[in-house]
Amino acid sequence: MKRRMVFWSWWLGWLVGLVVMSCNAPAPVSVAAIRPASASNQQDATLTILGEGFDSSAKAWLIGKDGQKIALVALRILTPQKAEVLLAKGGQAGIYDLLWEQGGIEKRLGGAFEILAGALTIDVVDVGQGDALLIRVSSGKSVLIDAGREEDVDALISFLRAEGVTRFDYVIATHYDTDHVGGFAKLVYGPDGRPNTEDDRRATEGWWDRGGFSKSTSYASVRDLFPSIRKILDGSDASSFPSIDLGAGVKLQVVTANGAVLQKDGSIQRINCLDDENCRSIGTMISLGKFRFWTAGDLTGGGIETPDVESTLARIIDPVDVYRAHHHGSRTSSTQTLLDALKPQAIVISAGRQNSYCHPSDEVLKRLIPIPAIALFVTTSGMIDAEKCGFATNELVFGMGDRALLNAGNIRIQAGEDRYTIRSAAGEVRSYTTR
Ligand SMILES: [Zn+2]
Repeated sequence: MKRRMVFWSWWLGWLVGLVVMSCNAPAPVSVAAIRPASASNQQDATLTILGEGFDSSAKAWLIGKDGQKIALVALRILTPQKAEVLLAKGGQAGIYDLLWEQGGIEKRLGGAFEILAGALTIDVVDVGQGDALLIRVSSGKSVLIDAGREEDVDALISFLRAEGVTRFDYVIATHYDTDHVGGFAKLVYGPDGRPNTEDDRRATEGWWDRGGFSKSTSYASVRDLFPSIRKILDGSDASSFPSIDLGAGVKLQVVTANGAVLQKDGSIQRINCLDDENCRSIGTMISLGKFRFWTAGDLTGGGIETPDVESTLARIIDPVDVYRAHHHGSRTSSTQTLLDALKPQAIVISAGRQNSYCHPSDEVLKRLIPIPAIALFVTTSGMIDAEKCGFATNELVFGMGDRALLNAGNIRIQAGEDRYTIRSAAGEVRSYTTR
């Protein structure tokens, strides 16, 4: 009996000892993420590396596809789970693995980081049948235009998390349809789901919308959170058409707001929107050197008896490189008159897969397809079965060959002053010269 107790107490002691030992042993080294996941090569960037078991003997590099190695310098271990490094400017643009070396052990995180060329990055985030667009400048400034539907905003939130974006300099709500502003409440309130707390994803310099009644009640409460920076672009005077310098040569100019169009001589031409919400969309030109990008929510052009803002816009707008198609490619918009004025080289469409609106419409696609050398990017596959709308998007654009890219997911446009690239989520890249 006694001997058995001795045996058990010995066994228990050994087990306790083992548990204590394993608690004291250093955690195995692992690397989980690098934040932000991308940075412009126009200036130095501070990056955070997350993982386990970090100690001060560590070294870190970025390894490119063709083996080029960039040392991440000034490494500081903040906690065993968090380190900070500096990436010097001037790195070659491309996608890199992260290599972490510590105590003779190497950990590699594939495709963890992207060095961006040029000063301007525009991400058209795939939020299904809706719109969300993030503009980032190497100066550090960022602008969010729309946040998609409430049920799709998680796609935007996880995109922002991966990119390490926790706040914006400016937020623009183009108009009050829920596929543009429905996601704002959940986005702004942050992980705790409550406004006015530490984790809110807020704007710091400006929160712009068209003012007036918001039929989206959730958006109506969000816009009231920022009285000191909220700017109402109701089209009534010149202050409705702000022009801001985002640094690094990037400019943002509002041209349409609440059914009004800013003329070249500074005067304002108004269109009667009646009760059409899309007609009131805020339209913005983003430019860097010769590069120009136009986006304007669901702005209407007279199709399906909508108020025609596009014709007035077409009279004053200069050609662009990239046109983010109005209203998800609906036949309310993207009239021939507008396309003739914009003369885009690439068109980006945000529309849900097999959506109930038949976006992008066959009418608009048939207008785009004959434009010589035009490139088309759609976030999803668009209409996949022809029964619903009488056409399938892939069949319509078939003749465009690889100039049409459906199912692109999050679309990233990266611009320098005379060149730009457009890339799909899967990494297909097209390069263009700015005209
Ligand atoms: Zn819309």
